[in-house]
Amino acid sequence: MLQIMDLSKSYKKTLAVDRVSFTVPDGQVGILLGPNGAGKSTIIKSIAGLLRYDGAIMIQGIPSREIAAKKIFGYVPEIPALFDALTVREHIEYIRRAYDSDITEEEIQALFRRFELDDKQDKLGNELSKGMMQKVSICCALAVKPKVILLDEPMVGLDPQAIKELKEVVLELRNQGITVLISTHMLEMVKELWDIVFIMDKGRIRATYTREQAGNQDLDAIFFGITRGNAGEKAESGILEPMQESTRESAGN
Ligand code: ADP
Ligand code: MG
Repeated sequence: MLQIMDLSKSYKKTLAVDRVSFTVPDGQVGILLGPNGAGKSTIIKSIAGLLRYDGAIMIQGIPSREIAAKKIFGYVPEIPALFDALTVREHIEYIRRAYDSDITEEEIQALFRRFELDDKQDKLGNELSKGMMQKVSICCALAVKPKVILLDEPMVGLDPQAIKELKEVVLELRNQGITVLISTHMLEMVKELWDIVFIMDKGRIRATYTREQAGNQDLDAIFFGITRGNAGEKAESGILEPMQESTRESAGN
């Protein structure tokens, strides 16, 4: 489980995240959906411990700053950052040791095959294309064998085969009871995956929908309504009530 409580973050004068609270329960896939600049990466970097912030973040009930919490989450940054002087294989070995992960050699090789990196194992970090770096970054996060995994715009820059594999991996993680948080500016990218979606704009969560609450409503239309300001007035007073907020008929419920 991932709990974010009253998280705020300013960069000098920019209030990037404004009193955001949300929870992703065990074994669910949560989506931070919002346009560029909404504050998605700031939230994910705060969870990952890369920023100073106000508020509290708990991973499996453990404050995120504690080592015990850091050891059980994986993080795929928006822009992959690899070590220039380590090979692909060495990146995984580094993670395995640093996290004391029980990932086996067979599991590592299966991951490489899955992401078409098996013939790239001896390449150095700085010899890889952007897409390959992204795939190594995903493999590193999975090699942690995390209880909670954070993926910041993970599909951007991936080829269609890797996108398909990543979606399958996310569904497998969910089946294993692992908590997943994915940020995206396009719900289309994650439409088969999500359990709960947090629609963000200008540093705040403007609406929250579980799949059940969303029913057959067109979340893209709701998203555009919110981010174009149609729902701005209401949003100021807090999280919009799912269902009531929409003028659409919900055929689903
Ligand atoms: P998103 O990931 O949703 O596109 P970000 O979290 O990256 O949004 O950015 C949220 C806001 O914070 C934006 O206004 C952005 O310009 C600002 N911001 C992000 N990173 C920095 C930084 N390092 N310094 C100053 N402002 C930043
Ligand atoms: Mg971002």
